[in-house]
Amino acid sequence: MVDAPQTFVIVGGGLAGAKAAETLRAEGFTGRVILVGDERDHPYERPPLSKGYLTGKDERAGAFVHEPDWYARAGVELHLGMTATAVDRAGKAVRLDDGTTLRYDKLLLATGAEPRRLDIPGTDLAGVHHLRRLAHADRLKATLTALGRDNGHLVIAGAGWIGLEVAAAARGYGAEVTVVEPAPTPLHHVIGPELGQFFADLHAARGVRFHFGTGLTEITGQDGTVLAARTDDGEEHPAHAVLTAVGAAPRTALAEAAGLALADRAEGGGIAVDASLRTSDPDIHAAGDVASVHHPLLGVRLRVEHWANALNGGPAAARAMLGQDVSYDRVPYFYSDQYDLGLEYSGWAPPGSYDQVVLRGDAGKRQFIAFWLKDRRVLAGMNVNVWDVTEPIQQLVRSAAPVDPEALADPTTPLTDVLPHP
Ligand code: FAD
Repeated sequence: MVDAPQTFVIVGGGLAGAKAAETLRAEGFTGRVILVGDERDHPYERPPLSKGYLTGKDERAGAFVHEPDWYARAGVELHLGMTATAVDRAGKAVRLDDGTTLRYDKLLLATGAEPRRLDIPGTDLAGVHHLRRLAHADRLKATLTALGRDNGHLVIAGAGWIGLEVAAAARGYGAEVTVVEPAPTPLHHVIGPELGQFFADLHAARGVRFHFGTGLTEITGQDGTVLAARTDDGEEHPAHAVLTAVGAAPRTALAEAAGLALADRAEGGGIAVDASLRTSDPDIHAAGDVASVHHPLLGVRLRVEHWANALNGGPAAARAMLGQDVSYDRVPYFYSDQYDLGLEYSGWAPPGSYDQVVLRGDAGKRQFIAFWLKDRRVLAGMNVNVWDVTEPIQQLVRSAAPVDPEALADPTTPLTDVLPHP
């Protein structure tokens, strides 16, 4: 008797989902691959939405993961513009909002994350934006163009990566930009105050106004249009548009309703998976922004909301679904572009985890590498306008070996020589 072909269903048409589908085929899987996505667009990458596409430098088409006809050629069945509403684990089936039921042998949840909303009056006014989808970027781009033309004001709530990247794009259009952030520096919870100040200076030099230690309390408007944004220090900031960029929450509703184990909110939430990206149900995996992975290298549970984690995590989950031995132990990595500055960050070193910051190079010239250390061990490194150093930085993080901070700070000592040789 010939075995019936297997069906692998992927819920989530983002980068992690699309890359998982690609990997299933690349690894020779001949069964059905079904990809369900609630957006109408084919799977695309989100980084251009706050960078090249938003600034007008790059075309919309450049954001897509594959050419539209790739899916048919690869035999990947697409259900776009459809939401998976329930997972029936006992019956091994996914239900869609149009009534379709998809049986699966293995299921991948790659449902990503969604912008956190500010619970304050005025967020329903026209001119209030958030940024996650291509459609949001289309709308924001039109707004930035108009603000630049009319010398208008954009208020951004949140000085995280997306807030800062949009600030840079908005200044490029000539808009006035005010950023409101409850923490004392930008990116405070990611890179700490030492390097956060560097980003405050970078943007202030380009004319961005910051209000730290304060949050938005209300967006006021007239006839549906934004007029101002109020902060809890009693100030009123003129605004023609507002972007709320206050983080993202993992889309766990399906997993939760299906009774899958979730990670603690204190650990960032998300669907709890082991190092092979398997959930508490052996036939269901999760990858990308929604997955909280027990990281074998760092020894902690981590939910990484970055491009490289979707790019590599989707394929890792696909291999695990095929029964291969997978231990997903990549060093967390992300990148950002703001004005003429490009950076990459490898590792994980939130405030409280490190006891020393070492700079290698010249922060004044905006060309340097920052390292976060604990007990002389490198937890993370960020190269700013310095390239081709990701590999040695990640080696330093991986090794977890104590290093000499003076050698690390000295640009004449090759990074590969900083590690103690066995
Ligand atoms: P997503 O991209 O969120 O895709 C998940 C998809 O699943 C979505 O289309 C969602 O609508 C869909 N979905 C969810 N639930 C269901 C359901 N029940 N049924 C059907 N479909 C569903 N990272 C970096 O490292 N560097 C950057 O410079 C950078 N820039 C960014 C800029 C922006 C504006 C944004 C928003 C993110 C940026 N990121 C960046 C983060 C990066 O884009 C994400 O980590 C990545 O998109 C995660 O991919 P994913 O496939 O896990 O999730």
